Amino acid sequence: MPTSVMVTGGLGYIGSHAVQRLLRDGHDVVIIDNLFRGHREVLELLARDADAAKRIHFVHADVANRAAVREALLQHRVTTVMHFAALAYVGESVESPVGYYRNNVGGLIELLTAMDEARRLQSSNGPAGVSRFVFSSTCAVYGDTSGADKPLAEETSLSPVSPYGRSKLMCEQLLSDEAARLHAQGVDFACAMLRYFNVCGCDRSGVLGEDHRPETHLIPIILEVASGKRECLTVFGEDYATPDGTAIRDYIHVEDLVDAHVRVMNALRNGEQRVYNVGTGQGASVREVLRAAREVTGREIAVKIVSRRAGDAARAVADPTKIMQELAWKPSVPELREMIASAWAWMQRHPRGYGS
Ligand code: UDP
Repeated sequence: MPTSVMVTGGLGYIGSHAVQRLLRDGHDVVIIDNLFRGHREVLELLARDADAAKRIHFVHADVANRAAVREALLQHRVTTVMHFAALAYVGESVESPVGYYRNNVGGLIELLTAMDEARRLQSSNGPAGVSRFVFSSTCAVYGDTSGADKPLAEETSLSPVSPYGRSKLMCEQLLSDEAARLHAQGVDFACAMLRYFNVCGCDRSGVLGEDHRPETHLIPIILEVASGKRECLTVFGEDYATPDGTAIRDYIHVEDLVDAHVRVMNALRNGEQRVYNVGTGQGASVREVLRAAREVTGREIAVKIVSRRAGDAARAVADPTKIMQELAWKPSVPELREMIASAWAWMQRHPRGYGS
């Protein structure tokens, strides 16, 4: 049933893909974005068709701007929140831990408070406010997975090694405690924490892309080399205990990740708290990604091998059994080549990112 969904960080990479899908599914969408790393151009692209334009509402505000968020929740009678807005670079979080905790944990505290304030204002007349909450978490909550030769299931112990990972784990705990309180008080509420693996690729209709500034992720960097924007890929370590010595990750297409959000949003029932890994369960090494990218682009991609990047695990691959069984989710883009091809197509059309 169409509903009103708030998407925080809706002009960023993953958030924008979520907005596109929600609009396609007929929902109303309220975007909260402070435009720190999001792109204003995305709004125009998402609102290109007249019907979507009527159902998309943008509030230029930080998620920690409680008054602005509360007003938006009330005005648009929001019933579901998808919370993407966060800082998400491991290295940066080591440089600026306080900034990461303030943004990620502080942002969620203000958002939950705004939801509560709106709920109190609403309860006497009209709908009961936000009842479903989907949170962007990360496999970084598992911490150092170097010793793990098996895929990571949700029960894996949680011991994040970076301020980024710790801030996300704190958010999970905070959300869980708040959900328990709401449930105990008889409020209709349920939440899900989705632990993302390595999200990549772009919308296959060719509208939305991945434009991070700065860019640190493997696939976009490889494609920047292929397109001549960078001289070479710096491979961080070739001495891992993996078959080719390079680190293994679980790459998942952004549209499949978004599909997991939609499925869990529809499945959640009052009082539930669910946790799912979202990955394909297939690992690919840096060398394998490179090989696939060479095939897709037909370009030589120069590499330079350097030492390991601090904090990188040898291997991080999801065990996605739980989400596959409980939500009947399965990747529609399981092939690395197709994931890369979607990113390459967008990059060729937008050589300097959004605005080009
Ligand atoms: N990587 C690399 N060179 C780069 C960027 C990444 O060798 O310029 C490697 C990185 O060490 C890791 C994998 O590629 O093994 C994926 O890194 P990314 O930053 O994309 O995601 P992460 O797994 O750190 O979240």
